[in-house]
Amino acid sequence: MTRWSEFYVHTTREVPSDAEVISHQLMVRAGLIKKLAAGIYTYLPLGWRSVAKMAAIVRREMDAAGAVELSMPAIQPAELWQESGRWQRYGKELLRMRDRHDREFCFGPTHEEVVTDLVRRDVRSYRQLPFNLYQIQTKFRDEIRPRFGLMRGREFLMKDAYSFGATEAQLDEAYEAMRRAYCAIFAACKLEYTMVEADTGTIGGSSSHEFMVVAQTGESAVVSCPCGYGANVEKAESRLAPAVAAEEAPEERRAVPTPGKSSVPDVAAFLGVPPERVVKTLIYETEKEFVAALVRGDREINEVKLQNALAADHLALASEEKVERLTGAALGFAGPIGLPAELRLIADESVRELRNFVCGANEADTHLVGVNWGRDLPLPPVADLLLVAAGDPCPRCGAPLQLSRGIEVGHIFKLGTKYSEAMRCHFTDETGAERPMIMGCYGLGIGRTVAAAIEQNHDADGIVWPLPLAPFEVLLVTLNAADEETRRVADELHARLGALGIEVLYDDRDERPGVKFKDADLVGIPLRVVVGGKSLAAGQVEISHRRDRAKEAVPVAEGLQSILARLAAEGRKTPA
Ligand code: ATP
Ligand code: MG
Repeated sequence: MTRWSEFYVHTTREVPSDAEVISHQLMVRAGLIKKLAAGIYTYLPLGWRSVAKMAAIVRREMDAAGAVELSMPAIQPAELWQESGRWQRYGKELLRMRDRHDREFCFGPTHEEVVTDLVRRDVRSYRQLPFNLYQIQTKFRDEIRPRFGLMRGREFLMKDAYSFGATEAQLDEAYEAMRRAYCAIFAACKLEYTMVEADTGTIGGSSSHEFMVVAQTGESAVVSCPCGYGANVEKAESRLAPAVAAEEAPEERRAVPTPGKSSVPDVAAFLGVPPERVVKTLIYETEKEFVAALVRGDREINEVKLQNALAADHLALASEEKVERLTGAALGFAGPIGLPAELRLIADESVRELRNFVCGANEADTHLVGVNWGRDLPLPPVADLLLVAAGDPCPRCGAPLQLSRGIEVGHIFKLGTKYSEAMRCHFTDETGAERPMIMGCYGLGIGRTVAAAIEQNHDADGIVWPLPLAPFEVLLVTLNAADEETRRVADELHARLGALGIEVLYDDRDERPGVKFKDADLVGIPLRVVVGGKSLAAGQVEISHRRDRAKEAVPVAEGLQSILARLAAEGRKTPA
């Protein structure tokens, strides 16, 4: 018997001030989660049921794909992270701590090190490969901006799987099995999702895909094309046509005053040239060096591409003071000519074809016009650093790309030998030679997916759960809990549904119907059965769907069959 009155359901009308997105607001209001500290939440009984259902779907599909479940520790020794090189590189997202012996540990944000250490101690031969290990476990990442409730928490639940193989073919097979499993998982949750190409960082070479739940409030931008091309904007490429006529006689280079005109649009308007003719110079700082990155004035730099091109661990725009010290001018007047040698120059493809262009003069309130590659300065090393925009030509077919937003719920990645080499996770092959194992890793956010499901399934009154993730399948509501006949009919229906394994939450509270219906809408359980009042007097119970609210009164004796038929219509396998 799961009675509302005993199930610790505390709904509230108050919208927490830090809840920017609807899923976060609704999860708090419906009593699914409770904040303990920034990015750290208690999963309340209702919320935990949905999270557990998500986990069960993931577990089912992982098992079906041949992955094997284990559970690794949350607390990890620093030595493993030093071996992989990530103790230095991971930065402040890694929560570090010391034990009583002053030994260093971290709370795991991910488990490549731990699983690689495990496997190198157990596996010796190609005959013991391949396999894929997974867990559903609590991670901690000290996110710079925890927000959106479970969507970007600091403590959160992730399914992480790690495949180990002897050959590239075995990696390809594991990757494909995971790709299919992820599709099955998100389809089982009834989510609208897409798979896109993702950035592989400085590891390079190998492939990586992200699964995005389509949502306006998503933190990720994705480009897509009807031809099937889809990519995270961090990774997206385009065929950009040169915007300026290539054949043009070189003009004389001149310095011109541009007082207070520090932005590209302002400079272009002031000089009466299109922004495409301006070269924008951005000064960045990495852990190794300062960098001046050039891009056409109407376009933006993709900082992920830039970081990869520089093989840097960290990248950020240099501070105003540093820009002034390096360029000798205020922000907005930097240019590629005459910069100190300590600055490394790199240019996006978009500036390659420019003639007679405008750029900052590295001098207060001054720009240069009529600048040309070769004559005035050599063309710096060129790379694709472009942030793709809506309408850019698709790299595959040339059609205009579309830009949309999504919530990254899963990420699959061919790691190759990055960790197995660094941590000497080796095996002997058929010829007796020792080689590093070939790995893949596959992450999926359990809480984030539940939040994403709400982001996609709600209305003005509350959550509209897709059946597979709903905390309960049926909400049984009594209109007058004190009435004996009402209680008798409801109790019996509850007992019979329960006996068939249907998950029923029984709102037996002695509350006004208005209060109970408001709560029912907020909590969003898919099927609602109301017992009492006029309909019961007529020998009927009222059944409705949360999604369309269409009500139907059925004779009490047919209530059970009607509920089963509706659940079956939603795809639930119910007992005959
Ligand atoms: P993001 O770019 O959103 O920070 P990530 O690339 O750091 O994600 P991964 O390291 O690939 O994420 O983690 C695997 C999965 O774990 C993600 O696809 C996401 O579903 C989930 N996840 C990552 N960070 C968080 C977080 N802070 N809160 C909740 N879920 C998260
Ligand atoms: Mg992250």
